[in-house]
Amino acid sequence: MTGDELRKTKRLILALDFGGTKLAAAVAVPGERGFLAKATAPSPTKKSAEADRKIILKLAARVLAGRKPAAVGVSFGGPVQAEEGRVVLSHHVPGWEGFPLAGWLEERFGAPAVVENDANSGALGEWAFGAGRGTKSFLYVTVSTGIGGGWILNGEIYHGADGLAGEIGHLLIDLEGPVCTCGRRGCLEAIASGPAIARRARELLASERSVLQDLPEITAREVARAANAGDPVAERVLRGAAQALGRALAQAITLVNPGRIAIGGGVARSGERFFTWTREAARRYVPPQARVEIVPAQLLDDAPLWGAVALAERLFEGTQK
Ligand SMILES: [Zn+2]
Repeated sequence: MTGDELRKTKRLILALDFGGTKLAAAVAVPGERGFLAKATAPSPTKKSAEADRKIILKLAARVLAGRKPAAVGVSFGGPVQAEEGRVVLSHHVPGWEGFPLAGWLEERFGAPAVVENDANSGALGEWAFGAGRGTKSFLYVTVSTGIGGGWILNGEIYHGADGLAGEIGHLLIDLEGPVCTCGRRGCLEAIASGPAIARRARELLASERSVLQDLPEITAREVARAANAGDPVAERVLRGAAQALGRALAQAITLVNPGRIAIGGGVARSGERFFTWTREAARRYVPPQARVEIVPAQLLDDAPLWGAVALAERLFEGTQK
């Protein structure tokens, strides 16, 4: 066996991602970019925690191909008690309440496991392998069906007292704004998430002419496409969302003074003008000395998986747990 092979058999990381629409597993070797193997599956139509676990074990078996991991890192789509490796609940799937996910995985794989929520995991992934590299104070924001965020301060995930740090989607933007999924009114998520963008477009179409009217279904992606093609209604909707995001970022910048902010998620793929509007709105409300860069995330859908790799690497180093 060559030294390279020995290294791969000895220190294999299993990374798992329990996402909103899909489940994913990958294996990686510490210090190397690129997965040795990766497998994904759509979330089961009949949602249950048990079905998720069955699928993730199948995906893990496929990517491990008989090899044994030295550590397991997990990104989970919902709040977790990171220190105990326990799920609080899933935003997408019933039956996860209080489940000891790290312990369950440790039993199955005979290796230490670490669990984080997907926003923190995505943040760590971007910080270690993507758009956040080299920063001491980094904020990752993901804008898609919901809006989440995670802080990496001095190389560590910042959880806050109750694990709620980085919940930028629920910053108050407009007291008179639409009702949010959290039950309050005017949160960023109720204004700038994908569903919020689509809803705002539908509202305006009741009274205004737009190419969007010819579509069978209006989604945030269609709004972005129409905006970038010059449709004035779509442009107004997308600019409004970008400006709301910029104002939320301004609050975060003013409080914590990050060196860089990376924005990921489907809505962040709305084109360069989306970023221009976001940056302009943020700039307007931050101290002029703030040198913060606002950039697109780099790892796209793989950010949480790469975060899971980085979490597991830390188990080797003994810096976490
Ligand atoms: Zn909210």
